[in-house]
Amino acid sequence: MPTLVMKFGGTSVANLDRIRRAAKRVGVEVAKGYDVIVIVSAMSGKTNELVGWVNETSPLFDAREYDAVVSSGENVTAGLMALTLQEMNIPARSWQGWQVPLLTNSAHSQARIEEIPTDNINAKFGEGMKVAVVAGFQGLTPEGRIATLGRGGSDTTAVAFAAAFDAERCDIYTDVDGVYTTDPRICAKAKKLDRIAFEEMLELASLGAKVLQTRSVELAMRYKVKLRVLSSFEEQSDEAGTLVCDEDEIMESNVVAGVAYSRDEVQMTARSVADRPGIAAIIFGTLSDAGVNVDMIVQDISEDGRTNMTFSLPVDQVSRAEKAMGAIKGTEINYDDLVTDTEVAKVSVVGIGMRSQSGVAAKMFKVLSDEGINIKVITTSEIKISVLVDRKYMELAVQALHDAFELDKAA
Ligand code: ASP
Ligand code: MG
Repeated sequence: MPTLVMKFGGTSVANLDRIRRAAKRVGVEVAKGYDVIVIVSAMSGKTNELVGWVNETSPLFDAREYDAVVSSGENVTAGLMALTLQEMNIPARSWQGWQVPLLTNSAHSQARIEEIPTDNINAKFGEGMKVAVVAGFQGLTPEGRIATLGRGGSDTTAVAFAAAFDAERCDIYTDVDGVYTTDPRICAKAKKLDRIAFEEMLELASLGAKVLQTRSVELAMRYKVKLRVLSSFEEQSDEAGTLVCDEDEIMESNVVAGVAYSRDEVQMTARSVADRPGIAAIIFGTLSDAGVNVDMIVQDISEDGRTNMTFSLPVDQVSRAEKAMGAIKGTEINYDDLVTDTEVAKVSVVGIGMRSQSGVAAKMFKVLSDEGINIKVITTSEIKISVLVDRKYMELAVQALHDAFELDKAA
């Protein structure tokens, strides 16, 4: 039998009615002849509640116990989904991560999947079970403890199962009907895409389009798992949602597939840093040791042996960064002062078409300048151009770029 993986996110299993509705969708696929592996999230809001309880009990918590607590939400929905399917006369049973077992490394709260043996579940399919309901987000460490895969980790569970069982497709049911050219909340002309390439999705996911956990997209790309994102609230055809797939499967792609943004960025400049070999290593080594995720970096051209070093980071890491930079001020780095601007945002255009078509950056800068938006920092990769702008212009920048690259005509 061909295998299909269906993942239901928190809003799709938020209460018993929704679990019933999701189970009906599963029934449709079973009727088509699939062996189905269902991956469930916790009911929406549940994991946040559990995390809150852990923090309240023990601010510097033992990560192994954090995992013991926060993994429990998925156990409930897995059992309820199996019961619901049984009530519909569909042979189903639930599996917690350790029962599969989904084997992870020991990095509690951020564990990585090492292996998913398929024999236990396949044996049950052989005995006539039609649906294996698996608790997402959790696995078993070499030490025999429960580990979780990081917030949003059920997506990664789903893709990993699809790879391990060589599934025909991995359908991710969520509360939006697909992947959009940009966030419809800030750009009314945003369009749902029928298809998007893995690499584009990877950029969009890591830039903050929260439909899929970034690691799930990395995994799908590595194992060529066909991923489909679709809504569990609408009647579905086989063509519904957005297919995240290999670029070869996209006939005609736009140069730009989407415009992404990240609202809460900070720009920091260390002014008049001694310009010697090794200073960047010291500054960014120090920041990284302090747990600061530096994103964009620009070094000015140097004058009289001094230069400015500008970089960006998320807003909630400002005090950590300032403390770390303060600690090296008097050392050989010996910069004059640190200037922090907490009112910036990052706007990016993403598309694999940029590899072969030139002029995208020039067009982006022209569009922003026509709107009177000043660019503070620029970075580029093969398929992405990002700029830092004043936060108050972020929405305008997204809308203007969406118009200029004619994404309202995308499909
Ligand atoms: N329930 C977990 C979370 O909220 C995992 C998931 O739903 O993907 O992060
Ligand atoms: Mg999610």
